[in-house]
Amino acid sequence: MATSQDPAKLALLTLKRHTLAHLLAAAVSELYPDAKHTIGPVIDNGFYYDFEFSPENKPTEKELKDIEKKMRKLLPSWKTVTGAEITAEKAHEIFKTNPYKLELIDEIATKKKPITLYTAGGESKTAFTDLCRGGHAENPAKEIASDSFKLSHIAGAYWRGDANNAMLTRIYGLAFDTKAELDAYENMMKEAEKRDHKKLGKELKLFTSSALVGSGLPLIQPKGMIIRKEIEDYLWELHSNRGYDRVWTPHIAKEDLYIMSGHAAKFGDELFRVQGKEEKFFLKPMNCPHHMQIFADNQFSYRDMPVRYFEPATVYRDEKSGQLAGLTRVRSITQDDGHLFCRVTQIEQEVSTIVEVIKKFYTTFGMMEGYWVSLSVRGEDKSKYLGTDEVWNLAESSLEKAAKANGINYKRVPGEATFYGPKLDFMFKDAIGREWQLATIQCDFNLPERFDLHFINEKSEKERPVVIHRAISGSLERFMGIIIEHYSGSFPLWLSPVQVKVIPVADTNVDIAQKVHALLRENNIRSEIELSHDNFGKKIRNAKVTKIPYFIIIGDKDMEAGKVTLESRDLSAKSIVDSEKGVNGQVGQLSAEEVVKKFLEEIKDRK
Ligand SMILES: [Zn+2]
Ligand SMILES: [Zn+2]
Repeated sequence: MATSQDPAKLALLTLKRHTLAHLLAAAVSELYPDAKHTIGPVIDNGFYYDFEFSPENKPTEKELKDIEKKMRKLLPSWKTVTGAEITAEKAHEIFKTNPYKLELIDEIATKKKPITLYTAGGESKTAFTDLCRGGHAENPAKEIASDSFKLSHIAGAYWRGDANNAMLTRIYGLAFDTKAELDAYENMMKEAEKRDHKKLGKELKLFTSSALVGSGLPLIQPKGMIIRKEIEDYLWELHSNRGYDRVWTPHIAKEDLYIMSGHAAKFGDELFRVQGKEEKFFLKPMNCPHHMQIFADNQFSYRDMPVRYFEPATVYRDEKSGQLAGLTRVRSITQDDGHLFCRVTQIEQEVSTIVEVIKKFYTTFGMMEGYWVSLSVRGEDKSKYLGTDEVWNLAESSLEKAAKANGINYKRVPGEATFYGPKLDFMFKDAIGREWQLATIQCDFNLPERFDLHFINEKSEKERPVVIHRAISGSLERFMGIIIEHYSGSFPLWLSPVQVKVIPVADTNVDIAQKVHALLRENNIRSEIELSHDNFGKKIRNAKVTKIPYFIIIGDKDMEAGKVTLESRDLSAKSIVDSEKGVNGQVGQLSAEEVVKKFLEEIKDRK
């Protein structure tokens, strides 16, 4: 999750956060003089600093307020931060009682990098000096608002993340430009906790995990599979009439494939190895090399170009088990993958089509508000990139033209291109304002070279195609995790595992309720019927917990009128809590056929 969309603003905030890590260290020095300081980097939402406290003088979460107060007290005296390069000997002398800093100093010296000390508040009695590479607010007292940061929590952390090393105490801080932004972030996190997809996934029976299967390998339950299948079908619907063909490729391939593609070197120890009886394989970390082989098997001519393959396929990466969580950090990742092979001159049109698909898809999910796109192009040092200037310029301008033609809100970000080509990365905001990088369109001049791909052009010569990698949802697992939280489990009708619940008011209404339920099922509407002997109020409350979008209520009055009463989750959420009768959020009294027609329309339009 990214926190700021403006690179310039983020760069300044990073300086403040880094300075605040020093301020935390300075406050700890004053309150815990025997604490040994180690390192304090900037993170996504603020900063942290790792300390070795003595066992008898060690803060708990309770003391964070005192440390925070001390930071605020010191801040006004930090009017400058100045740096100076010193020798390794001098550094050793200064930090002689701190083995952690000595280790860092030796490392810097071995790499022949300058050893620099920075002092904040040099004029004041409370001046504070730390070993540091630099990158600070120039005048912290002026630039950092004293209410724009706070210490959030304490955790244990091994020195350098190695379990063989000493266990240190990590103090985390949140920091933003203003108090309003800090408050907004905290509210967002509170809301995020309520919507946590791991919690909702369990409650709504969408997915599970098993210690026997292993961590990071989620198992999708029947209800979750309905959501996943709906998303997958929708994605294919968006591609099927745009010239894409479906392909299928196996989950393993010989090591040679990934050595040739370069992925063996790139993914290194993230690759799962499979030892066959005679040959060595990898579980596939990417689908691209497989698709290259399908292309290579055909003798395409310029008349066949572009060629477009689509395959939602699962790839496997051996992420560290400590980083795995729910659906968003997994070892089995199903990319809604696609590769298209085209001529350089066709990039613009092809990218335009993909952008159109992306816009349509995210409009359906209500995520277009506040989105932005990074147009990642080459940086200053052109030698880092593969391919000629001519091809790069054409590809970069094609991406930009496609973005412009589609009215896309994009920013040109120099230096962010991969070595093999420029790309468009799409950032979307969810319902509570968190930003996610989801869709991507990447030009690739590398794989066609590596696999010696070609087609025959008008002059009967071999011509190299460009490959465009594209993913719309990114990964189906991660996307599902994000939309569970985005909708807080209250999915729109087309995605809901159960679309409607038929609730007879009394036993005398059960027969007709069965008939309505059967009619809905005949029309492929995912209906459930409530047949318990609970009282009506309880039936309604039970239905509400499951976040089903619609209820059909059938009582004596409905039977007399030959109709049913339709209630919507969104209209009746309040009335159901308030009233045992639960009829305040009615859509209205309709015939069963009218209800079916309404549902089918709403499902078709993916409202
Ligand atoms: Zn620093
Ligand atoms: Zn690819």
